[in-house]
Amino acid sequence: MALFVHKYGGTSMGSTERIKNVALRVAKWHDAGHQIVVVPSAMSGETNRLLGLAREIMPQPDQRELDMLAATGEQTSVALLAIALHAVGKEAVSYAGWQVPILTDSAFGKARIQSIDDVKVRKDLDAGKIVIITGFQGMDEDGNITTLGRGGSDTSAVAVAAAMGAAECLIYTDVDGVYTTDPRVVSDARRLKTVTFEEMLEMASLGSKVLQIRSVEFAGNYKMPTRVLSSLTDPLMPLEVETVSGTLISFEKESSMEQATITGIAFSRDEAKITILGVPDRPGIAYQILGPVADANIEVDMIIQNQSVDGKTDFTFTVSRADYLKSSQVLEASVKSHIGAGSIAGDTKVSKVSVVGVGMRSHVGIASQMFRTLSEEGINIQMISTSEIKISVLIDEKYMELAVRSLHKAFGLEND
Ligand code: ASP
Ligand code: MG
Repeated sequence: MALFVHKYGGTSMGSTERIKNVALRVAKWHDAGHQIVVVPSAMSGETNRLLGLAREIMPQPDQRELDMLAATGEQTSVALLAIALHAVGKEAVSYAGWQVPILTDSAFGKARIQSIDDVKVRKDLDAGKIVIITGFQGMDEDGNITTLGRGGSDTSAVAVAAAMGAAECLIYTDVDGVYTTDPRVVSDARRLKTVTFEEMLEMASLGSKVLQIRSVEFAGNYKMPTRVLSSLTDPLMPLEVETVSGTLISFEKESSMEQATITGIAFSRDEAKITILGVPDRPGIAYQILGPVADANIEVDMIIQNQSVDGKTDFTFTVSRADYLKSSQVLEASVKSHIGAGSIAGDTKVSKVSVVGVGMRSHVGIASQMFRTLSEEGINIQMISTSEIKISVLIDEKYMELAVRSLHKAFGLEND
C-alpha cells in the first residue's frame, strides 16, 4: 500500500462522461489498496469562460476578484468527481484549497504555495476515503482565495504529493508523455520512458509545454517522482501496465550504460534579437544596458558582447518576441541618453533550437556535432549559449523546423 497523488487536466475532466472515467480509474487504484489524493483542474474551457465573463464587464478587473471567480472552476470539478466516486460505491470527500488549507502568499493570479497542512487529509485517507483537492488555488494569510497562475493545477498536485510524502505524483493529461521533440515537427519523435527533472526544465522552458514549469521545479526541489501519462486510455487497464506507462520525471537515469548523450531537441519559435551598435567598452556597460530591461520585468535570454575595436563594441541579446517592442522602447530611452551608443538594431524573425541531455556532462563533442549538422544544412548560427546540459543556437526562424529535424536525426533520437 502506498500513497499516490493523481492530477487530472481540464480535458480529462471535460464532461460528466469523462469524470465518470476518472472515477473508475481512481477507484481501481484504491481497490488495489492504495491511498489516493486527486487534484483535478477545472473542466476544459471553464477558466477561460469565467475570466471572459469578468472582461465583458471591464477590461482589467481586480485581480483578487478574478481569483475568487476563477477558483470556482476547480470547485465545480472536485465536487463532481466526489459525486462520481460515490456513484461507483467509493467514499470520497472534496476540499477547496482554503479548507485544507493550502497557504500561499498574496500575489493574486500568480500566488506561490507556502505550506500545506495535511492533518485533515491524512485522517480521511486513514478512514479509507479518497480525498479530492482543488488544483490551482489556495488561501493567503488573510483568508483570501488565491490562484497559482494558468496551468497551476500541476503545481498544486506536485506540492500536495511532496507535502504528504507520496510515492509518486501522476499527472494524467491528453498527451501520453514527454517526447524527444514536438511530434508535430518530427513525426518519428519518440516518447521518453524517463527524463530527469533538470532536462524537463530545459525542455519545458524551451517550448515543450507539457507541465507548468513551476511544478517541475517543485518536483526537483522536493525530489518527488512525477509521471506524465495519458488519461485517454481505458480506465480499467491493468494497474501493472499503467504504473509504468507515460514518462517518469526522475532524478537519475535508470541505466547509465545505455544513457544517450542527448535526450531531446527543444525549440522556441518566438524569439527576438536586439543589438546595440557602437557601445563604449567600459566597466558597467552591460548593467547600464540590461538593468532598465530587467526593471521593466523583461526576461533576457542569450547575451553576446563582441571584442571591442577602438574602444567600441556591439552588444546583442534576445528576449521573447512578445517583449520585443517594450524592450526596444526601454532601450531607446536609456541607451542613447546615458550610454552614448550608436544605434539599435532588431530582428524579430529568429528562433532558438537547443539540444538537451544530462549525458552531455560526460561526453565531449556534442557542440561540434550540433554545429556540423547545422552547417551541412546550410543554416547560419547567429548566437550560441550553453549550460551544463544544454546547447542553444539562435537561427533564422525559417530554418527552425529543418534544424530540429536534422538534429533529431543526427543524434539518433528517432523511433527504432
Ligand atoms: N484551470 C486552471 C487553468 O486553466 C488551472 C489548470 O488547469 O491547471 O489555467
Ligand atoms: Mg494543464
